[in-house]
Amino acid sequence: MRFSVFVLGMLLWSLGAWGQSACELPLHVARENMMHHIGYLSSDELEGRYPGTEGADKARQYIAQVLRENGAAPAVTDNGSQWFTVARLASFPPDRNSAVPLKTGVALKNTFPHPRTANGAASGKIKRVGYGIDASDLGRNDFRNKRIAGKIALIQAGTPDGKGPHGKFAKHLDLDTRIDRAASAGAVGVVLVPGKKDNLLPEPFYKGTRPGRIPVVVLPEGTVPRGLIDLNAFVQRETAQAANVCGFVDHGATKTLVLGAHYDHLGWGLEHSLHRGEPAIHNGADDNASGVAVVLEAARLLKEWPTAKAFNYLIVGFSAEEDGLLGSQHFVANRPAEFKELFGMLNFDMVGRMEKGNPLIVSGTGTALEWPEVLSRATCLPISLKTESAPGSASDHASFYRQGIPVLHFFTGAHGDYHRPSDDVEKIEPLSVEYTLRTLLATVEVLSQAPALTQQDVKEPTTASSASFKVTLGVVPDYAFAGSGMRISGLSPGKPAEKAGLVAGDVVVELGGMPVRDMTSYMTALSAFSKGQKAKVVFVRDGERLAKDVVF
Ligand SMILES: [Zn+2]
Repeated sequence: MRFSVFVLGMLLWSLGAWGQSACELPLHVARENMMHHIGYLSSDELEGRYPGTEGADKARQYIAQVLRENGAAPAVTDNGSQWFTVARLASFPPDRNSAVPLKTGVALKNTFPHPRTANGAASGKIKRVGYGIDASDLGRNDFRNKRIAGKIALIQAGTPDGKGPHGKFAKHLDLDTRIDRAASAGAVGVVLVPGKKDNLLPEPFYKGTRPGRIPVVVLPEGTVPRGLIDLNAFVQRETAQAANVCGFVDHGATKTLVLGAHYDHLGWGLEHSLHRGEPAIHNGADDNASGVAVVLEAARLLKEWPTAKAFNYLIVGFSAEEDGLLGSQHFVANRPAEFKELFGMLNFDMVGRMEKGNPLIVSGTGTALEWPEVLSRATCLPISLKTESAPGSASDHASFYRQGIPVLHFFTGAHGDYHRPSDDVEKIEPLSVEYTLRTLLATVEVLSQAPALTQQDVKEPTTASSASFKVTLGVVPDYAFAGSGMRISGLSPGKPAEKAGLVAGDVVVELGGMPVRDMTSYMTALSAFSKGQKAKVVFVRDGERLAKDVVF
């Protein structure tokens, strides 16, 4: 079906449509093709294209095949697939009673390893250390005069004042820090006792949870045995293989423009889903089969359209975007030498739901001096554009912007089916993808008349997720970083981290005296500060441990 309309399309083109401008090009064939791509990519057969699944691999193969058919040669790797590893959910072993005090010989109920556990066994005497809080600023140290070397520390979850995040111990809520403190004092294992309100069992486990140094188990109060116990804790931590798909339309030009769209989605739900209820396939027709369809058809048109020959085009279907832009981060960090210099990047994420009369939203116009002028000329009736200077950090273009590459992000707006199983092809407006494709072509047309972009930095507005924090460090964390600490992948100009002299690649390991091992402990540390306060930030740069003061 797709192939036959494709052939018809080529026939029409060859009859002399090629000299036309972007606004005149007939796109009804492209529109049919795009709807076909969206229909397949968002079908139940692909089960929501979750990275590492068969459905995601079918999507990868489909995109690779269409790219080849449309004249884009496999690029970046020999077959065009650029593989990388992503962290997957950690899970319990089938037998949850792996934390058993063997000496008592009694299998405990409601016993499970804590996500932060190291896999392994520990033996020792139980020693209570209160809440395990060492807070010199609050005059409290639960470890004072407690000899826990060689012992199993028993730590009460929650806070001494019982007020959790609303009390004065808020910044000590993070159990990771307390477990770590016990390990530093020589404890060989930790038993956590939850209070009535503490839920210590995130299920499924937080993705990417990294093991701690010693075995940690959770035991309900009243079931904790006295004396010598043996612990045995085990958590399965899984990874998956994801792949970006890359195709190259080579016009022998000196400048290469990247056209990107992520093809991964949420599978049956899991993290990031807004769906409540029985697991269901999240088809992701708008998010983001729509954007993939646009770049696939763009490849076909840009291959033959004479106006397009001012540039080469690198077309990339990114994976693991929903996990935190992992695919595009991998791409920019590992792109081969011939793609080190990139002229610009156009990203398409959710472009299938433009309602009648609504504009196409284009963000990132502040990332190059010329963008506002280019876009003012790149409109074709009846489309209007709503432009935003900041690129935002919500999709893959952010990874390119942080590398100093001018970007634009195309988007037709949010809707009630976002990240829900109801994001289906029936709700896609064919004219929406057609208009988006036309705007892409018009942008290329205007750019080709004066192919220059002067990159500039934009002040990124604080994102909604940082709203609960009183301060920001002004960094973009590298969510793909697998080591201990928070690796900086980008900095906002004029914000505390940049002012203090931190640079991309620095790995923050301590903030204001609090250890930073991962995103969770970073957030916990950050939430402790108010505007105007000063904090020492300890970080690793090129293997060297350095410290600087930041002012929030
Ligand atoms: Zn998306």
